[in-house]
Amino acid sequence: MSAPAVCTTCPYCGVGCGVLATPDGAGGLTVSGDKSHPANFGRLCSKGSALGETVGPEGRLLAPRLYGKAAGWPEATAEVARRFSETIAQHGPDSVAFYVSGQLLTEDYYVANKLMKGFIGSANIDTNSRLCMASSVAGHRRAFGTDTVPGTYEDLEQADLVVLTGSNLAWCHPVLYQRIVAAKAARPSMQIVVIDPRRTATCDAADLHLPLAPGSDVALFNGLLRHLDQSGAVSEAFLRASVEGFDEALAAAISAAPATAETGLPDALLHRFYALWAGTEKVVTVYSQGVNQSAQGTDKVNAILNCHLATGRIGRPGMGPFSVTGQPNAMGGREVGGLANMLACHLDLENAAHRMAVREFWQAPRMPEAQGLKAVDMFDAVERGQIKALWIMATNPAVSMPEADRVRAAIAGCEFVVVSDITAETDTARLAHVLLPATGWGEKEGTVTNSERRISRQRTVLPAPGQARHDWQIIAQVAAAMGWGSAFDYSSPAEIFREYATLSGIAAQLGKDFDISGLAGLTDADYADLAPVQWPVNTTRTGGRFFADGRFFTPSGRARMLPLRSAPTAANPAFPFRLNTGRVRDHWHTMTRTGQSPRLSQHMAEPYLEVHPDDASRLGLRPAGIAEVTSPSGRALCRTMVTDRVRPGEVFMPMHWTGETAALGRADALVASVVDPVSGQPESKGAKVAIAPF
Ligand code: SF4
Repeated sequence: MSAPAVCTTCPYCGVGCGVLATPDGAGGLTVSGDKSHPANFGRLCSKGSALGETVGPEGRLLAPRLYGKAAGWPEATAEVARRFSETIAQHGPDSVAFYVSGQLLTEDYYVANKLMKGFIGSANIDTNSRLCMASSVAGHRRAFGTDTVPGTYEDLEQADLVVLTGSNLAWCHPVLYQRIVAAKAARPSMQIVVIDPRRTATCDAADLHLPLAPGSDVALFNGLLRHLDQSGAVSEAFLRASVEGFDEALAAAISAAPATAETGLPDALLHRFYALWAGTEKVVTVYSQGVNQSAQGTDKVNAILNCHLATGRIGRPGMGPFSVTGQPNAMGGREVGGLANMLACHLDLENAAHRMAVREFWQAPRMPEAQGLKAVDMFDAVERGQIKALWIMATNPAVSMPEADRVRAAIAGCEFVVVSDITAETDTARLAHVLLPATGWGEKEGTVTNSERRISRQRTVLPAPGQARHDWQIIAQVAAAMGWGSAFDYSSPAEIFREYATLSGIAAQLGKDFDISGLAGLTDADYADLAPVQWPVNTTRTGGRFFADGRFFTPSGRARMLPLRSAPTAANPAFPFRLNTGRVRDHWHTMTRTGQSPRLSQHMAEPYLEVHPDDASRLGLRPAGIAEVTSPSGRALCRTMVTDRVRPGEVFMPMHWTGETAALGRADALVASVVDPVSGQPESKGAKVAIAPF
């Protein structure tokens, strides 16, 4: 008799699809979509449906390694604790750092954040989610007073107009895209607009595509705000009751140059879009990395939010701004404070009352009063020798950070580097003094939160291989070895979940949105059976939309509109092309998992560069030839794909490929460490590069 299927959650993108996983009795598993899960109702994309092909033993890290030699857990844990404790004693708490990941489960994230902020006493914990959605977090906090995604996935199906901006949803969030396409098939009057410099696969479903100039989003949405005002689409009642800053925001939009100048879009196309947006009550604007990954990412987010606030199209069925997150648990990390500028449960690090509440709750010996180092700053500090002990969990910054070659050298030069991962030979793992084997998807237990605030369980299907341990266990054991055993004496992820659910009730009393206090009393059995649930969960409500009552989380209770101005980047004649980077349909991050599936690797088998035919012909680049791409920070070789999907002067490269040499198409070696000043998110879609035939 075969083993029963286990309900769990896909470990890839932020859609957070439910998966039924069945062990095959030979160490592997088969998967199908979970028809009862409200994110996907049984659908899976190519990556999710290939999960069974990516859980094999190849390349797994099976035992701790200490300075290149196999070691036992007691030895490895003691060494990590000793080196961190000595470094802190000698150089202070800010001489150490954790760089964590949106691949961690929420319970792992919570324990890492508690150790760094409450016990080590530094805020130097940041995450690869900084590269993914930090600008959305910052934009939400500026406009709403907290990091709230207002709507639900149902809004995307109920809208009469879905605007997808800076989002190749068809490849990066395929099941959500399928839901929109199905809704449009059932109701053809639904309109879809795609705003993207590239003509991506997402445009296949679009009624209108706006191939705007990269970086001109603020100009586009400022122009929309102006049009909304002129066309009478602004909601005077909503502004009066629930919004501040409208006059200033509108004045900034009016004083800006006409959108045609910056976006490069013809007047007629712009006005068609503006008229459609103004004339459609039920409009959802979905945005993702094309908006976030920018030196002006936070302003771009607020430019979108401004338009929804001006019209009151927020918090009601089929309308609202909607940030979709890249990673499976970027949202969970946000909720438990895994960012250098936040406390657990959306509490504010700079707020003394919030710090005091968390400190008391944790019975913590100390608590930082200032923000820690955000991802790019953190690796700069590693390079300067200011960070002397670094623990990297479940991520591969030696290839995924901007200026990856410099980051790789910085990690290699750090006095003490710990890497906990499932894979033995990542580009980053090779640089570690201590390697700690972690359990991966299918082997661990915990929760993740998807883009619509839905908490779902990841469950164990397979045994942990070798000596691999869960991330929360590894962190708690190091904390105990550093002398804080009683605060980290967890026996299960359920116990950790109850702890932060309780803390969320305190956060709610302090005026925060993240409230799952209704789950604080779950028994172990309840937690084991926990069905997908959207937060908030408290005594008065479960899930649903935020802001339906027109009340926000700012001190005044009113949302804030912001005056915004475009900030075009200067050209660099030595590097005349603008490099856009992103995902391909069938791979995930640096391919440590999806690279194991021959099926997934068939779709795009090698790194490539999309280049416009006019540029290819001018530069002598042949289709399927090799292009050499250089920037001030690096060099890469890629197969040339000549296509008019990209605009002249712009090129696109996928971000997944890794390797020791620059010749292997590593996109992030080319990306500059330019960040948004508010969010600290790097501009991963605007590197200046030069191109030549190789
Ligand atoms: Fe997994 Fe995302 Fe695909 Fe769903 S859409 S199956 S969460 S990768």
